[in-house]
Amino acid sequence: MNYDKIIVRYGDLTVKGRNRGRFERQMENQIKRALAPFEGLTFSKIYGRLYVHLHHEPYERVADRLKDVFGIGSFSPVVTARPELADIQEKAVGLMLKLADRPYTFKVSVRRSWKGFPHDSMEMNHLVGSPVLQAIPHLKVDVRKPDIQLKVEIQEDAAYLYNEVVEGAGGFPFGTNGKALLLLSGGIDSPVAGWMGMRKGLELEAVHFHSYPFTSQQAKDKVIALAQRLSYYAGAPFKLHMVPFTEFQTRLTQLNQDNLMITLMRRAMLRITERLAERYKAGGIVTGESLGQVASQTLGSMNVIGRATSLPLIKPLIMMDKNEIIRFSEKIGTYETSILPYEDCCTLFLPKSPSTNPNLSVVEKVEAGMEDYGELLRAAVKGTETIVLTPDKPVTIPQTGEESWF
Ligand code: ATP
Ligand code: MG
Repeated sequence: MNYDKIIVRYGDLTVKGRNRGRFERQMENQIKRALAPFEGLTFSKIYGRLYVHLHHEPYERVADRLKDVFGIGSFSPVVTARPELADIQEKAVGLMLKLADRPYTFKVSVRRSWKGFPHDSMEMNHLVGSPVLQAIPHLKVDVRKPDIQLKVEIQEDAAYLYNEVVEGAGGFPFGTNGKALLLLSGGIDSPVAGWMGMRKGLELEAVHFHSYPFTSQQAKDKVIALAQRLSYYAGAPFKLHMVPFTEFQTRLTQLNQDNLMITLMRRAMLRITERLAERYKAGGIVTGESLGQVASQTLGSMNVIGRATSLPLIKPLIMMDKNEIIRFSEKIGTYETSILPYEDCCTLFLPKSPSTNPNLSVVEKVEAGMEDYGELLRAAVKGTETIVLTPDKPVTIPQTGEESWF
């Protein structure tokens, strides 16, 4: 196809009156970052919309990448014409000829943003439609349900012709709604929750609790692979904080509070995460919980667990069915990794009959009886190692306490 540009329309942020400028700048940055591998592209901005000039870069591949950039409402590949009748007619015929290999119906809709153009929109619909009908004899006009809508937008310095509106990922540009920590397990749910959080404009850093050597190196690698996939959507280096949880978990097991084990573990996780949030200036915690899915995700459990932190707990999947979550994880490319069989720390320490309705005062009493609780918290935070991921670099695990770039 002879498209020479892509018009990118912004999504949710059009309704954001006050912060509009900041949102648009970040939108532009994210688009340019995402498209950086296509070196031939140039960009321009007209009336708050971004135009990607393709030059000779392949439209299909650029489009594939654009589909995953948060904040984009929709985009259209366009053919540019001079804002003159003859050129618009010629380009319209050219565009339709390229599409036409079978009988179909069409409709022309012209929008004249530049009122200085000598023909109005109604007239133009006919003036553009007629030469197209002449050039393609089997074509018919259908104004109600056309196979193809040929849209023409006439501005003062150019006219744009297109027939396709591709739906974007929507949401807000990455990082425009503050920063939060994502509790990332190796499961199906939490990567989806992360994708949803980022789509809402959250800048995320992931936190993973591991119980090495009870949990394997493969389990670690799996989480790293998931975080790496999320870094693709972030369009920026993505941090994964690996928290050593073995000591804490082992100590909790010794309490012989079998059916409260998950509750105690989750509360410890939240407390550690809260400290990390302070350190990394994050204002919330995102989890992959979904109501009723397991014992720790009943209303009663979530109540007692959630009280361990005063940070807002964001649970994008809370009302979703597992099937819907699975469909999402397939769509965002995390499913295949998530279903790899390696045990994570919670599965391994899972009691036979976890409480679905733990008692808050009992839980608090058990915790208050652990004089080493604070020390265990500090040790876990101190031993946390950070890995920074980008989508295309190979992955290895750094030494404890070291922050490294891949
Ligand atoms: P997932 O598929 O995300 O593992 P799940 O349905 O298996 O979720 P749980 O294992 O009970 O549910 O975990 C609930 C949430 O707690 C997860 O979605 C995740 O946000 C967090 N979580 C669980 N285990 C870990 C872990 N080892 N490290 C970090 N976060 C975790
Ligand atoms: Mg899990």
